Amino acid sequence: MVSKVNSLDQNKKIPIVFSLYYDIVMGGVEELHPFDSKKYGKVFGYISESLGIDEKQTFSPESATEDDLLMVHSKDYLVSLRNSENIAKIAEFEMLASIPNDILQEKLIKSVKYATGGTILGCKLALKYGWAMNLSGGYHHAKANEGGGFCFFADIPIGVFRTFEKNPDLSVLIVDLDAHQGNGYASIFKDDPRVSIFDVYNQDIYPHDEAAKRYIRFHYPVSSGIGDDEYTTLIASSIPEALKSAKPGLIIYIAGADIFEDDTLGGMCISANGIQKRDEIVFSNAVAYGIPVLMVSGGGYAKETATITGTSIVHILKNVVGSL
Ligand SMILES: [Zn+2]
Repeated sequence: MVSKVNSLDQNKKIPIVFSLYYDIVMGGVEELHPFDSKKYGKVFGYISESLGIDEKQTFSPESATEDDLLMVHSKDYLVSLRNSENIAKIAEFEMLASIPNDILQEKLIKSVKYATGGTILGCKLALKYGWAMNLSGGYHHAKANEGGGFCFFADIPIGVFRTFEKNPDLSVLIVDLDAHQGNGYASIFKDDPRVSIFDVYNQDIYPHDEAAKRYIRFHYPVSSGIGDDEYTTLIASSIPEALKSAKPGLIIYIAGADIFEDDTLGGMCISANGIQKRDEIVFSNAVAYGIPVLMVSGGGYAKETATITGTSIVHILKNVVGSL
């Protein structure tokens, strides 16, 4: 059952996972990339201020270990990240190619290792509390031997395979509502009967991965320019159908905010209200069906992203998983 948070005294922890290492700060270079690499701290700041909580009341992940990463990635792929040009390609940010690799390891790869640790921890917390949120993660383009679209590590498969170690009979439904097709985890899980994929994405944008589309069980490609009414009606009708059919023991929800109308990459036309409505539909269905849910961040590249995500999370905490 999903537990309700009824009051938040100072000793109470809530299953929000955040690390000060999530933000990527590289002496201003990061400002030149369309990805707001400091959105994680901004989202946490918004939530903590709105709810009057501090870091001690949330959960701080460990960095993913080499063993964690090797659960999914090949040794060769991990070694390839010691090359700055390879990192620049995955980040789609050429300037990184000329930065010494040690600096990229410390300033960038370290962040995504903590984000991956956050998804591992988030899976555990979701099963314990009924819900959890990792304020980073959702790197859904990372494959076993190949990164892409700013995704270095496949945090969701790594978190899920770690979870299977203690819960071998668990079934997982990935609900991917980021604007982009989630091709990375799809190519890793493939036909694994324990994992089902629900994906609503803009078919007109990256990555157009036809091979990975075969593994999507609940498949809803949409077109550029889709607006609130059509989008939320689709989500509201299709999520309950998927839950009834897949009967998961854990939902992993990729809450990409790049469906926002002013996002530079997503191409969709969803308002801030529409994003909140979407998140509410996913969480209220998880509560109604009694299925633990872990939300991970996914994409979101507009300057308003942190406020939109923070507002939606506070709404869910106050009105869906319980009153604060
Ligand atoms: Zn995206």
